[in-house]
Amino acid sequence: NVTVLRINHRPTRDKRITTHVALTARAFGASTILVDQRDEELEDTIRDTVYRFGGDFRIESGVDPHRVMREFSGVKVHLTMYGIPVDQAVGRIREAAGDRGVLVVVGASKVPREYYEASDFNVAVTNQPISEVSALAIFLDRLFEGREMNAEFEARMRVIPSERGKRVVMLPDEADCMNILRDEGADERIIRHVRKVR
Ligand code: SAM
Repeated sequence: NVTVLRINHRPTRDKRITTHVALTARAFGASTILVDQRDEELEDTIRDTVYRFGGDFRIESGVDPHRVMREFSGVKVHLTMYGIPVDQAVGRIREAAGDRGVLVVVGASKVPREYYEASDFNVAVTNQPISEVSALAIFLDRLFEGREMNAEFEARMRVIPSERGKRVVMLPDEADCMNILRDEGADERIIRHVRKVR
């Protein structure tokens, strides 16, 4: 069980890249993303993806990251170019985590010193500056040893792999989709958003 903690999210500057961090977290097998700054638009975008493409993925924004660090009971991994190589660390991380879960911390701008200290592992995906999106993807792929590539999502929309073109199967009836959403207790804001993008 993997939770991603995104720190220093700035809704005005980082919306697109934090969206990509969240989508990557979901597709590569994490179950939750926590974002420090409240951002409802970001939450809507991710919940809409979960609505259409399935899975149990959860997003919560506006969390206190220090509290998350303090209270997380599993293994805390901070991704940073200054850390130890992922291939040296990943076996130890798996072993230390057992079934307690892993918290993966990714920054946006400069990450305060305290995260380096509060983490059990500071892990580098190369010691070069790269994007948090690629660092997260590679880390999760190594952690799950590639198994996440074959994950099946319980979905309303599913892509059928094809050599050329786009093949997607989806629930045919929009009203039906809206009802499912309401039954699940989604609020009207999300329902409107889904209607807009469908
Ligand atoms: N300059 C910032 C600093 O010194 O902390 C980092 C900015 S970087 C664009 C954003 C995030 O990407 C970092 O906080 C880190 O989580 C991740 N990141 C960047 N390069 C990385 C690498 N080589 N390995 C692991 N994570 C990396």
